[in-house]
Amino acid sequence: MQNFTFYNPTRILFGKGKIAGIADEIPAGSRVLMTYGGGSIRTNGVYDQVMAALAGFTVFEFGGIEANPRFETLMRAVERCREDSIDFLLAVGGGSVIDGTKFIAAARYHEGDAWALLSEQAPIKRALPLASVLTLPATGSEMNAGGVITREATHEKLPFRSPLLYPRFSVLDPSTTFTLPLRQVANGVVDAFTHTVEQYLTYPVNAPLQDRFAEGLLQTLIEEGPKALAQLDDYDARANVMWCATLALNGLIGAGVPQDWTTHMIGHELTALHGLDHAQTLAIVLPGTLRRRRVAKRDKLVQYGRRVWGIDATDEEVVIDQAIERTRHFFESMNVKTRLSDYGIGREAIPPLLEGLERHGMIRLGGHADVTPDISREILELCA
Ligand code: NAP
Ligand code: FE
Repeated sequence: MQNFTFYNPTRILFGKGKIAGIADEIPAGSRVLMTYGGGSIRTNGVYDQVMAALAGFTVFEFGGIEANPRFETLMRAVERCREDSIDFLLAVGGGSVIDGTKFIAAARYHEGDAWALLSEQAPIKRALPLASVLTLPATGSEMNAGGVITREATHEKLPFRSPLLYPRFSVLDPSTTFTLPLRQVANGVVDAFTHTVEQYLTYPVNAPLQDRFAEGLLQTLIEEGPKALAQLDDYDARANVMWCATLALNGLIGAGVPQDWTTHMIGHELTALHGLDHAQTLAIVLPGTLRRRRVAKRDKLVQYGRRVWGIDATDEEVVIDQAIERTRHFFESMNVKTRLSDYGIGREAIPPLLEGLERHGMIRLGGHADVTPDISREILELCA
């Protein structure tokens, strides 16, 4: 096992009715800015629940944070924080709202162009405290310190992180997810699945507990994901998917093991240039990554095939082939298409995607930093 430091300060309030308890978690007297997206929380009652819970606070609102949250929009919220002397941020929504709120928290105290927090990874020295009410299980943003922001003007999508950006608390009430469009339910399962794979399907380092945590998450998503898709108000299916998504990216399964993230970094370019949902990009890129990297990932691919999918073929090449095909089939069975052509994207799109990767310094990806631009090109060709 590799050395690690594990730190995660986010308090989780899990279950039906838990939104009512948030007032106890926010410092008394806070001026709270509640951030949200395009309006789903207004139609499904979450807005009313949050407002009722915040009755004792001075509350301001900032709505309209888009899916794949935009720098341009978030900078308007930063201005609001300064004007209204906000001292606590409450994100209510999916990963986009939470990521966007993390950016607002960091940009609030940044002097100069806040895009540098992403483009130059400028250090985050101070941030507003934030918390979340999660309505879409997928990203893990509710219990981690990172985010991804898009700049509309330049078609860029870049990650950032800081220990100052862990939510102070996050409410996970599975019943808030009953109103999710099926596409977003499926997206969430694919994102959580891929987060797990990015930290598991690398190379062996003798970390059997982390392996089994990851395998448990993958098997649970394979079992519960289709149930969550089949019945809108299956509380237990939604609850299990929700907890899997949080644990898939809160630092636990990644502690002491190599991490990859090739699929995510290539996927970000696809969203930036073609506007695909985050999970759609992962469903396309992950099978291509696994095929191209099957030699480098051989041992873990065999373990994945045997333990997660129960493939009992003796020939390891067959196990690997089947494991990759089962993965693709799982995404397709969740109605997330897995090829560039399914989204009307042809091979001519590959060179601009590679240019984006190079421009953003994504030229040595993977657990061994050995995924060069040439390998990324071959991965994308396999995704066509
Ligand atoms: P999202 O972009 O936050 O939300 C997608 C859509 O779902 C929005 O239109 C939203 O509508 C709607 N929605 C959310 N909750 C709903 C509910 N309960 N009922 C009905 N509709 C609902 O999706 P996401 O997958 O959670 O986040 C994706 C973003 O997170 C991407 O930018 C991705 O790159 C990033 N990401 C972050 C991390 C991380 O660690 N921080 C990891 C992976 C991905 P409204 O806008 O109207 O609410
Ligand atoms: Fe993701």
